[in-house]
Amino acid sequence: MTEALESNSYDVLIIGGGAAGLMAAVLLARQSSELKIAVLDGAKRLGAKILISGGGRCNVTNVSVTAKDFSGGSRNVIKRTLKAFSAKQTVQFFADLGVELHEEEHGKLFPDSNKARTVLEALIESAESQGVHLLTDQRVESIQKQDDTFSVGTQQAEFKCTKVIMATGGRSIPKTGSDGFGYELAKSLGHSITETVPALAPMLLDGEFHEGLSGIALETELTLRTKSSWGIPNPCLSISGAGCRRLF
Ligand SMILES: Cc1cc2nc3c(=O)[nH]c(=O)nc-3n(C[C@H](O)[C@H](O)[C@H](O)COP(=O)(O)OP(=O)(O)OC[C@H]3O[C@@H](n4cnc5c(N)ncnc54)[C@H](O)[C@@H]3O)c2cc1C
Repeated sequence: MTEALESNSYDVLIIGGGAAGLMAAVLLARQSSELKIAVLDGAKRLGAKILISGGGRCNVTNVSVTAKDFSGGSRNVIKRTLKAFSAKQTVQFFADLGVELHEEEHGKLFPDSNKARTVLEALIESAESQGVHLLTDQRVESIQKQDDTFSVGTQQAEFKCTKVIMATGGRSIPKTGSDGFGYELAKSLGHSITETVPALAPMLLDGEFHEGLSGIALETELTLRTKSSWGIPNPCLSISGAGCRRLF
């Protein structure tokens, strides 16, 4: 057991081992091999959401990603983020991990294996090979800061570190481990939180007229006029965050 694990003391603790947390771990470890880094995740296995993404194939990115592709948030922050790490760099990042991507309709990029597991395994392997500790079944319940030290409490243990990266995901599909508790942790440290709304959520319709349409995928445009007009039990027709904000 390493010194860091024995003392539960790290330079950086990353809370959440999904796509964001694992990428942060890989990039941070590359910056400095001296840093003691651990990822704490409440789930028994990492990356449940990566595995279900893109219908199990993981649509990693798109050939073209611009600030216009995002709704909500500050346009400038999104621009700066994309400038700091572009879609092209994402492709290179995965190529360096041995995950080659290919282009499909509308510029979507998928792993050549067509398996989301390839993406997850590459991230885990890269993090571990650089000495990052991936600690599962460690759901963080509290974070406290005193002077320059964070105390991070899970059911099993108390960890200490000087930097914390929150990568606890949103609220979608709570059984994957991200149930929104990360927002409470951030609030407990004094952060303000933008109210969340569902996005890309299936729409449910009353009645039965749509039953015979099951399995048909069409590119369509839908105009939302009243609250009572919503509902289609077909995951291909999803509503964006912007639409949801108008409805809620
Ligand atoms: C059905 C579906 C399909 C999708 N398809 C695609 C796609 O093809 N391409 C794409 O780019 N995006 C896709 N997405 C979106 C994408 O999956 C997410 O944006 C992405 O996985 C979010 O990654 P994340 O690391 O921010 O969060 P998550 O993957 O949610 O990871 C958060 C992690 O934090 C852990 N955690 C949460 N709270 C705590 C706590 N208190 N203590 C410790 N650990 C905690 C969780 O266990 C989890 O492992 C899809 C989403 C869904 C639901």
